[in-house]
This record gives sequence, C-alpha cells and structure tokens, in this order.
Amino acid sequence: MQAILRLALAGALAFLTGAPVWAEQALACEATDLTVEVPDPDLAARVCATAQSGLDLLAEFGLVQSKTIRIQVGSQGALHDTDCMGSFDAGAGLIRLSDPATLARSVNPGSLWHRIDAWALFDSLVIHELSHALLQQADRASAPCLADHEYVAYAAQLSSLAPADRALVLDGSREERIDPAHINDFIVLMDPDLFARAVWQHFSAPGHGAAFVRGIVAGRLSFYVEPF
Ligand SMILES: [Zn+2]
Repeated sequence: MQAILRLALAGALAFLTGAPVWAEQALACEATDLTVEVPDPDLAARVCATAQSGLDLLAEFGLVQSKTIRIQVGSQGALHDTDCMGSFDAGAGLIRLSDPATLARSVNPGSLWHRIDAWALFDSLVIHELSHALLQQADRASAPCLADHEYVAYAAQLSSLAPADRALVLDGSREERIDPAHINDFIVLMDPDLFARAVWQHFSAPGHGAAFVRGIVAGRLSFYVEPF
C-alpha cells in the first residue's frame, strides 16, 4: 500500500507541463548553497531572503543543508498541473514553485491556503519545499515515509507564517480535536488540508514542537504504519 502511495505522489509531483521561460542567469543566494532562477530580480532576491530565514528555522528542526539546492519560479501554467503549488525533485535537488502572480490558479477556493495573500502563501511554500529538500539530504539509515516528510514540511510552513496568517489558515479548526491518527500517508494524499491541521495540533501540543521534529529527522520518531 505504501509503495503505491509513494508512486502516486511521485507521479503527481512529476507532472510538469509546458515550456517555462527561465532566467538566463541564476542568482546565487548570499551565504547559502542556493541558487534561484527567476526572471524578476526583485522576486529572486525575495526568494533568497525567504530561503535564508527558512534555513534558520529548519536548523532548529535539526535540518542542515549539505548539498546544492536550485529553486526555479515560473508561471503556474508552465510549471504545474492545477492543485500543485510547488514540488521538489530529489534527484535534481530542484524546487519548483509557481510565482505569486499565478499561484492562486493552483489553490482550490475551498482550501485553507486560499485564505491568505498569494505572497504570504508563496513565501510559506518556499519553506515547505525547502523542508523536503533538507530532509532528503539528512544523514539517515532509511528514507522517511511520506507522512514524516509532510509532517516536517507542514510544521515548518505553518511555523513560518505570520501569526495573523496562521490564524486565518487554521480558523474554525482550533477548537476541533483532530485525531493524530490522521497523520498518515493516506490522509496526506486524500485530504492534505486535514493533514495540515492535524500536524499543527500535534506540533503545537506541549512536549512536541521542534524537539519532536528533530526526533523524526534523526529517525527516532515516525508516523510510519505497517501496511495491512
Ligand atoms: Zn510537501
């Protein structure tokens, strides 16, 4: 079952269409091993600054960059199928994101993420995909399961939001008790918004937070469930 879900996710992430126009030169972000390929220099500088703050946040999670990462930003139609706001290609060390101007096309109007400004969402997606990149680079005996990967990414993404934006995303769900059993490989594919809310409830509970994520990163904690 898990193998099938992994393949399904890989297929979803790999579905790229069109021929985007990339910046002729990549911007090397200062003090990091990150390059950003974005036609707009102002947006490139913003991505670098966001990624740098993301690296600082992820260091608290025990995640340290060890290999080069490239970030490409292009129009949604050229980059992704609908419903795919960003992706990380582990083999190429490549993050791809829809630019803020076209990002809204990928966001379902009923989604939690439709509640915040496209620029705030864009910045948070840089953090989400950077989390995947660094977790993939982590020195572990085995690869994390999908639920572990997405737990780390959503915990970092939601942590990176301004409190007012996080409140908007989570509005209406703060009083609702979500069973932590929803943090699994199936729910992240079938209902990613429910998964994200479950992650935040779990992550923000006493005794969890960055310490729990460091346990996942180190391979001591996991949401992996043996398939039936
Ligand atoms: Zn993800």
